[in-house]
Amino acid sequence: MNTTYTDPADAIAHDPMNEPVVPPADLVASELPADSNIPLNSWQSVRSRFPHGINWVVAGWLAVMHAGAVAALFYFTWAGFFTFLALHFVTACLGVTLGYHRLFSHGSFKVVPPLKYFFAMCGMLSAEGSPAFWVATHRKHHALSDQEGDPHSPLHGFWWSHLLWLQPKKTNEEVTAMLKRWAPDIWKDPGHRIMHYLYPVILVGSGVALYLAGEYLMGGIGLSVLLWGLCMRMTVVYHGTWCVNSATHVWGYRNYKTRDQSRNLWWVALLAYGEGWHNNHHAYQRLAIHGHRWWELDITYRVIWLLKKLHLASGVQDQLPTR
Ligand SMILES: [Zn+2]
Ligand SMILES: [Zn+2]
Repeated sequence: MNTTYTDPADAIAHDPMNEPVVPPADLVASELPADSNIPLNSWQSVRSRFPHGINWVVAGWLAVMHAGAVAALFYFTWAGFFTFLALHFVTACLGVTLGYHRLFSHGSFKVVPPLKYFFAMCGMLSAEGSPAFWVATHRKHHALSDQEGDPHSPLHGFWWSHLLWLQPKKTNEEVTAMLKRWAPDIWKDPGHRIMHYLYPVILVGSGVALYLAGEYLMGGIGLSVLLWGLCMRMTVVYHGTWCVNSATHVWGYRNYKTRDQSRNLWWVALLAYGEGWHNNHHAYQRLAIHGHRWWELDITYRVIWLLKKLHLASGVQDQLPTR
């Protein structure tokens, strides 16, 4: 039966292509602000989001990566720079935008298990959290976009949505509850569960491997390869991903009238392999293709298209809406 909606946002919300993988949860009491009269972007509101203080491991890691990125400028080598470029593509495109986002969070296509874990491994090397953590956070963002409970909305302040949202400390019970609620399919997968617990080891191991490769395989430039391949690369990838959460909910144009503040922003699309066409994505979240107009370059979709041609991806959701 075809239902006609007078409000375009209603039509989009009820489109089968917009079905979330996990249905939206009702807001639970702990996610509501203590005092709803407090403006969302006030200092008081931001401070109330740190009930257990600061996660110093995350804050320290991000500080060291940014310091390392500055130091990398003084240790430039071409081998280090090409390591940066290659690992940027592998971790940000294959890992985060293709793997964590379109494959795991939205089920926009399917791949065989070895490839699934390969993309998961690429994503973990971006140091944006385990697949289960990333997927749970992201699905919650779609379910509660720009409302109370959205993990990273600019309505709570631009810097909150860019990187401050990562800083509050969470108890193990809170994290596990979030993973079970928002990423049950990922959490019950034994391979993903192992990856979740091995995540810190894999990250530190990747740094050691980069240093040793630079030192012994590239002629004694271990420090340069470490600074460019790890610190500079992670810092640039972080800001690319974070801009999708912050900038594309603030600046840009809208192709679709959605209930959130999502926008399409060309420079974020370039920085994050097509993820900057964020209004298109919020309107049709299960679509593998985020660039809906001919000029909206979407490199991640081009990789998915290639995987499909090579018979390595199936069930690719790539039929653009006709309206
Ligand atoms: Zn968004
Ligand atoms: Zn998404």
